[in-house]
Amino acid sequence: MSRLRSALTRAVALIALAATPALAQQQPADLVVLNGRIYTADGARPVVDAMAIRGGRVVFVGDRAGARALIGSGTQTLDLDGRTVIPGMTDAHAHVAGLGSSLRNVDLVGTTSYAQVIERVVERAKSTPKGEWIIGRGWDQNDWGDTRWPSQAELSRAVPDHPVYLERVDGHAGLVNALALQKANVTKATKDPSGGQIIRDAQGNPDGVLVDNAQSLVERAIPAATRAQVKESIKAAIAEMHRWGLTGVHDAGSSAQVLELYEELGKENALNIRLYAMISDHAPTIDAWMKRGPQSGLYNGTLWVRSIKLYQDGALGSRGAALLEPYSDDAKTNGLLVSAPEHIKEVATKAVRAGFQVNTHAIGDRGNRLVLDSYEAVFKANPTADHRFRVEHAQILHSDDIPRFAELGVIPSMQASHQTSDMYWAGNRLGETRLRGAYAWRSLLESGVIIPNGSDFPVEYVNPLISFKASVTRQDARNWPAGGWYPEQKMTRDEGLKSMTLWPAYAAFQENELGSLSAGKRADFVVLNQDLMRVPDAVLSETKVLSTWVGGVKVYERK
Ligand SMILES: [Zn+2]
Repeated sequence: MSRLRSALTRAVALIALAATPALAQQQPADLVVLNGRIYTADGARPVVDAMAIRGGRVVFVGDRAGARALIGSGTQTLDLDGRTVIPGMTDAHAHVAGLGSSLRNVDLVGTTSYAQVIERVVERAKSTPKGEWIIGRGWDQNDWGDTRWPSQAELSRAVPDHPVYLERVDGHAGLVNALALQKANVTKATKDPSGGQIIRDAQGNPDGVLVDNAQSLVERAIPAATRAQVKESIKAAIAEMHRWGLTGVHDAGSSAQVLELYEELGKENALNIRLYAMISDHAPTIDAWMKRGPQSGLYNGTLWVRSIKLYQDGALGSRGAALLEPYSDDAKTNGLLVSAPEHIKEVATKAVRAGFQVNTHAIGDRGNRLVLDSYEAVFKANPTADHRFRVEHAQILHSDDIPRFAELGVIPSMQASHQTSDMYWAGNRLGETRLRGAYAWRSLLESGVIIPNGSDFPVEYVNPLISFKASVTRQDARNWPAGGWYPEQKMTRDEGLKSMTLWPAYAAFQENELGSLSAGKRADFVVLNQDLMRVPDAVLSETKVLSTWVGGVKVYERK
């Protein structure tokens, strides 16, 4: 058994000892959950049919009779009628403020006419103060019947008082109205920038569509979100996460302002999610937090700040992931390094001395090797028993590096939905041989590590069950390919469940508080419409969240 696994088992055993049932049964519970099929993610009692909650924590898991004994006059009961419960899910790598700002935009995906696009913008204008920008994204004129570029005239007539900027679905064109052109000072006299085009009418006036580099002519006139807007968008992101059964999230890079807003929301009792924030790679912010020291469970167990997010390389799609050998579909490049290895070592050294964790983005096999090398050097110079350093993504690994994670006690934090999103083209970039070490969950698990799962939203959808399905089937939503993509790397369903519950908790030093439905831990759980541990693979995508509970309080219910 690896060091990580045995530490985890020990911690779970300690909790079981600490919460003695005799003590718990002295007072009635606040909430008793009955007649469920409750998957606890706790090896001691993997499936039970009842549980009891008091003071936001689980006080009992077991049979109906045991839970009933805790019902008092003020106890709320929840009869599940056989429905499935799992611990609240945690996305171990996502971007909270990024989700918030994408939720603020007008969603134009799936519009089938220009009139429908305008209708959605008009609707938004009603609730937006005059003069404020309206931003949208997702139109595609190829879906409109008339596939010519739209003219700004109709949009400007319908929405005259707000500057409007609507990005095309692929982000490579923007549609604006007359007020936006005016605010950005784009006129007949404005020349096309290199690498961009201003679409014009017969008289040569800008007609609303700006292609590629011409988009920035207007984009730079859009003011940055205000602090109040960022705060509102964080709240919207939290509500969105609840909708998909997330009770926890690891924010992969929080700015100083966002951290300040998390604390503000925490003080206002409005941070009703377990938020594990990784500080962005910004020296003054890192120094300020290190001075304060690692922070755990602030504001009634809602905010943790004790880790730092670094970047080693780029992404695979844009050929920015650093590879040991050139790209299979572009022999001239093997990717790029976003940070020098010296920088990773320097920050990691400061972190390990201050009791902070380091979580470094690495996608390519060279990127991953460099991070492991840097971490190894830092641990040698600064022996540390329980650092739990992570590699974020760990997507493409050379076979020599796979066992190094367990040896160094480094956690690969991976997003299963990246595998199902990338599988259509990853082979072009990497070739057959390298694919064997790509998204290699089984090889890593066998080496003795845990894998906290995630989505990287808003890059991918928020729904964590997409990654759960990918983990156990390696198939997309349409169940392609038959049997799964490199199926030997699948997780079991038990591992898939832990990858969204107990393993993210361990990867965030939270396993004494979160991650399983065990007596003594916070009562975060989700009720589902079907038994995701037993339904056939082909219908896993139909799993729906019926309600989400944080600390024994319902934060979402499906209508
Ligand atoms: Zn990310």
